[in-house]
Amino acid sequence: MDKRERLIQKIRNIAVKTPTRILEVPEKVEGFGTISYIPPSCSACKKCIEACEVEALELEPSLRLPEYINAVIPEEGFRSKNRESLVSLLQVLKQNGEVQTISVPEGLPGYGSISWSAQKCIACNKCVEACKEDCLSLEKTYDLVSVIGEVEPPPVVEIHDWEPFIICFVCWECSHAAADLAGLMHLHYPTNIRTVRVPCSGAVEPIQIMTALENGVDGVLVTGCLLSECHYGGDDPLAGNFMQADFVKFWQSIFEEIGLGGRLYIDFASAAMGIRFAEIVTEFVERIKNLGPSPVRGKLEVQS
Ligand code: SF4
Ligand code: SF4
Repeated sequence: MDKRERLIQKIRNIAVKTPTRILEVPEKVEGFGTISYIPPSCSACKKCIEACEVEALELEPSLRLPEYINAVIPEEGFRSKNRESLVSLLQVLKQNGEVQTISVPEGLPGYGSISWSAQKCIACNKCVEACKEDCLSLEKTYDLVSVIGEVEPPPVVEIHDWEPFIICFVCWECSHAAADLAGLMHLHYPTNIRTVRVPCSGAVEPIQIMTALENGVDGVLVTGCLLSECHYGGDDPLAGNFMQADFVKFWQSIFEEIGLGGRLYIDFASAAMGIRFAEIVTEFVERIKNLGPSPVRGKLEVQS
């Protein structure tokens, strides 16, 4: 199983409700997107398929005629004049009855339809660059619905004397020192967190967050250096903590859709901000207490 398959499997493992919305992908988040395709201008040259390293595209021996009939021929026309004639002809013929997808005879070059797998695509844009007919584009949206499909809600489990169990990622440059300082200052904050030290908040992988949730953790808190003070990029918009802030925004929207809204949070504290670190933890633990135990625990119960 490759990394993308593992990631999708993990989303399925933690999902407790069927997603319904197509999500926006923040500008800086790479690796997620939707390929949109204009069949009428496709010459079935397969260049996109050759360019795709994860086999997310296939050429089907069929023509989706309704999409030809509804196509709008651009003012400057299609690059292929034959193709333009076919679309015009079909648009005239449509008055004569219903049109549907038709099969392309085996061995007939130049005709076919590209199918795209949302599960496999890593949004690298290589197919878009390879297509000389401009029929592909990469949109910053993510169709979680088609990626994970229907989700059966797990049973609600009764847990007596429940206390939130939270994983807190701390970066070893700042927020780890802030946590230490909070301890040295004898600040009182909830003991519900287990810290995991990482080199940079930007190094926390979604797969790690999901593994925690998959194991019944009630919430995941990611902490890092103050924005603009990342030790691996400073105020560069591509610095680790800036990037992670956008990634967390994206994963928060995914978790919202699959029934785990509010269980992932990111915040920042410098090494000198012990008091702020204690506040961040206290506020997050309070929020998780209000949400109650993770519904993923119901899934674990069914599996055991
Ligand atoms: S964007 Fe990349 S991964 Fe997705 S279909 Fe195109 S080439 Fe394949
Ligand atoms: S989408 Fe573009 S690159 Fe792919 S088969 Fe059609 S014309 Fe060729």
